[in-house]
Amino acid sequence: MSKIAPYHTDSPEYPPSHRNVYHDRDNCPAGKTIKQAHRKAGKAERPRCNDCKKLD
Ligand SMILES: [Zn+2]
Repeated sequence: MSKIAPYHTDSPEYPPSHRNVYHDRDNCPAGKTIKQAHRKAGKAERPRCNDCKKLD
């Protein structure tokens, strides 16, 4: 498990709990459901994902 560059998604395919945050852990369960094609780089001024926080 490691920290990776922050990413987020704008895709409506994902629930708000996954979409309205950014992720920065490669083993985040919510982040892992976001397909590579739907990932965008950066935090987009969103709060950090709770799952990613737990993985610290
Ligand atoms: Zn996350």
